Amino acid sequence: MVNVLDEYERTLAFADVALSQIKLLRHTATPRNYEIWYVYATGYNASLNQIINETLARSGKLGEPELEQLYETYLSQQKTTDRIDKVGARVIGEIDDVMNLITDTLGITASYDASLAEADQKLASVTSREQLFEIVEALARSTREMRETNRALEQRLSLSKTEISDLQQSLEAIRAESLTDPLTGLGNRKYFDRMIDMAVETALATCLPLSLLMFDIDHFKSFNDSYGHLTGDQVLRLVGLSLKQAIKGQDITARYGGEEFAVVLPNTALRQALTVADQIRRAVMAKELKKKSTGEVLGRVTISVGVSMLKPGDDTDALIERADACLYAAKRSGRNRVICEVDPEYVAQTQGQVAC
Ligand code: GH3
Ligand code: MG
Ligand code: MG
Repeated sequence: MVNVLDEYERTLAFADVALSQIKLLRHTATPRNYEIWYVYATGYNASLNQIINETLARSGKLGEPELEQLYETYLSQQKTTDRIDKVGARVIGEIDDVMNLITDTLGITASYDASLAEADQKLASVTSREQLFEIVEALARSTREMRETNRALEQRLSLSKTEISDLQQSLEAIRAESLTDPLTGLGNRKYFDRMIDMAVETALATCLPLSLLMFDIDHFKSFNDSYGHLTGDQVLRLVGLSLKQAIKGQDITARYGGEEFAVVLPNTALRQALTVADQIRRAVMAKELKKKSTGEVLGRVTISVGVSMLKPGDDTDALIERADACLYAAKRSGRNRVICEVDPEYVAQTQGQVAC
């Protein structure tokens, strides 16, 4: 009873600290922020506390991107790791059970084999009906035992099959989750890094074209400052949706960072990639944003896009760097536009400057 009360008071104290921090820093009291501050209050996650303390000491505040990053890095990943650990333990348990079963079955098979050999030997020197009867009876007994063992084995293996397919599904769900950005449902940075490497490898091996779009929402900071981060998050979702609607089939889409997105277009040359990029740009711009709660019209957001195409001798980093440089050029030349790289000779001639 004392323990339950202790626990009650301890957890209330953590909850108080969490709420005070939320109020002090004027964070929205969402479950995610509450969880961050609650874990902070417990002090169980030393790295989380360290980074929070450092950030607060440096700037006195924690913005929405920092909170999301903290959650992603220190809490949601932790959950995935816990789930992987649990599934891992179940896999090991299942393997142990099946190994024991195999050992038992091998023992039983060996003893059945021995009784067959014994019967074989006895049959060679049988002299009476009684002796023959005894041998047949012993054989029938061990065959019965063997059949029972087999039946039990079959049942156990069939259970095992169900368990293993269940484990496979759990692992698949964890894997998919660990590669998905929870806000937009698009692939996350880890997914992007993995997929672009594979796409580049395939393109280089097959000599098929490959293009990359990197885009970034224009003046998103001032949008967030005017309407708040939660509305900012809705916009990120909307941009994610426009992106999903604009691409198809083998195209790879991901949230690259805060308000940056990337699209890998396999088997697509620069001209076609530009068309896709402009479709996405127009689709985002076409959407009039409304605040869900009040219906207030918030206007529109635009995006700037940088487009690069894989060149012979390129690697993933070079492709990304060029798309990023084009994106930067798009920002510099006024935003809400698509800028692509030109052919290598032109880039060389203009000393690395990008133009379209
Ligand atoms: P630019 O046109 O040059 O891209 O201007 P910007 O304001 O969009 O660019 P900047 O890089 O200065 O700021 C990015 C802003 O995006 C900072 C932050 O307010 C916002 N942001 C980044 N990630 C998130 C997120 O996950 N949610 C929300 N709501 N805002 C985010
Ligand atoms: Mg931006
Ligand atoms: Mg940015």
